[in-house]
Amino acid sequence: MKTSVTVLGLGAMGTALARAFLAAGHPTTIWNRTPGRSAELDDLGARRTEDITEAVTSAQLVIVCLLDYAGVSEALHPAAAALDGRVLVNLTNGTPAQARSTAEWARQHGSQYVDGGIMAVPSMIGGPAAFVLYSGSASAFEQHEAALATLGRATYLGSDPGLAPLHDIALLSGMYGMFAGALQAYALIGSEKVSPNAFTADLLVPWLTAMLTSLPRMAADLEYGAEPGAAGSNLAMQAAGFVNLIQAAEDQGVSAALLRPVQRLLESAVAAGLGDQDLSALVPRLATEVTRV
Ligand code: NDP
Repeated sequence: MKTSVTVLGLGAMGTALARAFLAAGHPTTIWNRTPGRSAELDDLGARRTEDITEAVTSAQLVIVCLLDYAGVSEALHPAAAALDGRVLVNLTNGTPAQARSTAEWARQHGSQYVDGGIMAVPSMIGGPAAFVLYSGSASAFEQHEAALATLGRATYLGSDPGLAPLHDIALLSGMYGMFAGALQAYALIGSEKVSPNAFTADLLVPWLTAMLTSLPRMAADLEYGAEPGAAGSNLAMQAAGFVNLIQAAEDQGVSAALLRPVQRLLESAVAAGLGDQDLSALVPRLATEVTRV
């Protein structure tokens, strides 16, 4: 008999989670603030309730996936007593601090708490490329690991509930850095009516793919210490070249707003005498007041 599961929240992601549990044969109870959402889940065998306390008490494993933690707090508050003795897995995106305080709140109500970060879009849930980061109660994770693996590869990061959102936000930061760069590139080529399709396939994707291969080296520098200039692209050279990124954008009538913080970071490092270092030397400077933007 498969573990019974409750899914709270039937937005795009909650619906995908419920669909995956149903497809894997888990008896699945669903609840959403706005009644009647994602009617297709009823046809797939979901048990729907509009009473959140009934939803929480319907399963040992309670998954919550709402827009934000304010919504989680608001939705779960009336059902707090029903959490006693259950496992609450919160897959809502949030910060490490929010995860830790929600874990403490859940603990006070007798619940074992696991926080999670979903590294997938809804269409990927249940497929081979999806993975979900978890942290918090080790025993709760172990007990429900098989059920959670239904959603995607389940990776447990440790007992501090803040670890999953820490890693989730770090990965999203890397992703948005890439997207911000791509947006800037498209705006720049768009200023001369260059085809985005050809630019992407022939140039942007191969270039970014090649640049991705430099990350393990950067990580090794951070882990073991860097030999200055070993990568052959020192910061003084990069700061000089970066001026051209700003100037070219402005000459083409494109905003340089996304680029300027990176330029400030580069220039402050060079001014601090780090011109012969590689990019990894910028990481510790992000923690200092001088480069905060
Ligand atoms: P949607 O905007 O599609 O759905 C939001 C859900 O939150 C709805 O069910 C909504 O209910 C509910 N909600 C919002 N506020 C409250 C509240 N105060 N009380 C009760 N319910 C509330 O978002 P997604 O489903 O796409 O995202 C859900 C979570 O998953 C987010 O934290 C998101 O960051 C994360 N995520 C999403 C990904 C994606 O690509 N979609 C990828 C990875 C993570 P109602 O129907 O009543 O409005």
